[in-house]
Amino acid sequence: MKSTIVIIGGGQAGAQAVDTLRKEGFAGRLILVGDEAQLPYQRPPLSKKFLSGELAAERLPLRHRSFYEEHAVELLLGSRAVRIDAASRTVALESGAILPFDALLLCLGAAPRHLACPGADLAGIHHLRTLADASSLRRDIEPGARAVVIGGGYIGLEAAATFRRLGCEVTVLEMTDRVMSRVVAPDVSDFFTAAHRTHGVEIVCATAVAALEGAARVERVVCADGRRFDADLVLVGVGSVPVTALAADAGLPVGDGILVDEYCRTADPAIFAAGDCTNFPSPHYGVRVRLESVDNAFEQAKAAALNMLDRGIVYDRVPWFWSDQYEHKLLIVGLSSGHDQRLLRADPATGGFSVCYLRNRELIALEAVDDSKSYMAARKLIDARVRLDPSKVGDARVDLKAAV
Ligand SMILES: Cc1cc2nc3c(=O)[nH]c(=O)nc-3n(C[C@H](O)[C@H](O)[C@H](O)COP(=O)(O)OP(=O)(O)OC[C@H]3O[C@@H](n4cnc5c(N)ncnc54)[C@H](O)[C@@H]3O)c2cc1C
Repeated sequence: MKSTIVIIGGGQAGAQAVDTLRKEGFAGRLILVGDEAQLPYQRPPLSKKFLSGELAAERLPLRHRSFYEEHAVELLLGSRAVRIDAASRTVALESGAILPFDALLLCLGAAPRHLACPGADLAGIHHLRTLADASSLRRDIEPGARAVVIGGGYIGLEAAATFRRLGCEVTVLEMTDRVMSRVVAPDVSDFFTAAHRTHGVEIVCATAVAALEGAARVERVVCADGRRFDADLVLVGVGSVPVTALAADAGLPVGDGILVDEYCRTADPAIFAAGDCTNFPSPHYGVRVRLESVDNAFEQAKAAALNMLDRGIVYDRVPWFWSDQYEHKLLIVGLSSGHDQRLLRADPATGGFSVCYLRNRELIALEAVDDSKSYMAARKLIDARVRLDPSKVGDARVDLKAAV
């Protein structure tokens, strides 16, 4: 019988875990430790409606303070966990407090990667992970400001769209030969490149940033090929790294993330982990993955919470993710690596379309641009692991569900 559960990390996963634990009848002491001062909140609006000013900070929390009070959750916000002692089953906080636990859940998230080039810490250079980051970025945005976004991934592109809506002059610098190259097919990259250009964003690919220059604050970005881009503000969106030091220092195995098994358990049976900080096996795909998505944080935290209550739930979920840029919605379901066929449904030039990935005629992933119908069908088809007729998959006149 567990009498005390401690959760470290007051984000998407941490908030979900306390909810599940109480809903599932855990009546013991429940402590949520978070180093941010705010109640656990949603991050997706930080690059979208919060950044644009359409959504107030008060609307970001995932649950009201009263939820935690009513469910007797001891909320230790603005508190940083600095050490886990697996042998004595305690967590030490920066304040000096020591928390005993019977089970511990690590929901530590990820931290933005920083550039290592000269000038990388000048004023006016931003990263975007927390409400504090987004608030500081918002203070620098004004109509006519020259914003340079380094990194053409989701966060960089979503922010670029928001900067543009707020009247900034925007340039996106991407190191590879196309935007979002790690995560989507060339057709999808081309579509979003065109959308950004239509909205007046300059997109420059195949260029590496060599230095950031300025006197008191950043004034320009200099690329290795000699090109220079004047900047009033810079957003660095070059990916994230999982937060693992706490786990590694406690002797837990980490790779790209804290290594957990299909029950969300680390090498120590009393310590679990969930969300962006984990590297876990996907039974559906037969590979280990680390994901950064709301759905994964939410569902994996639920599974971890249930398993802390000894329910033996295998976490096996087909991942999905969304991104909003201007009026366009990108929805991705599944993992495309290992596909042997890639098919385009519909013509990107004429509206919504999808890219389908098959392996042995089984749909393993789909990227939908303004095509939620194919996305919804794909979620079911991927789960069901049925074989499809490729000629029908590639024919947008045929309902995807009818391609079985
Ligand atoms: C700008 C932005 C836009 C996004 N947009 C989308 C989107 O459109 N769709 C989507 O699916 N996903 C999106 N994501 C990703 C999504 O928000 C994350 O996958 C999700 O928040 C992960 O939840 P988590 O609980 O694992 O980590 P987090 O929400 O990051 O929570 C981790 C928490 O742990 C805290 N912490 C870390 N170490 C300690 C410690 N030692 N002591 C105490 N606390 C600690 C961190 O400060 C943080 O508060 C976006 C992310 C960002 C930043």
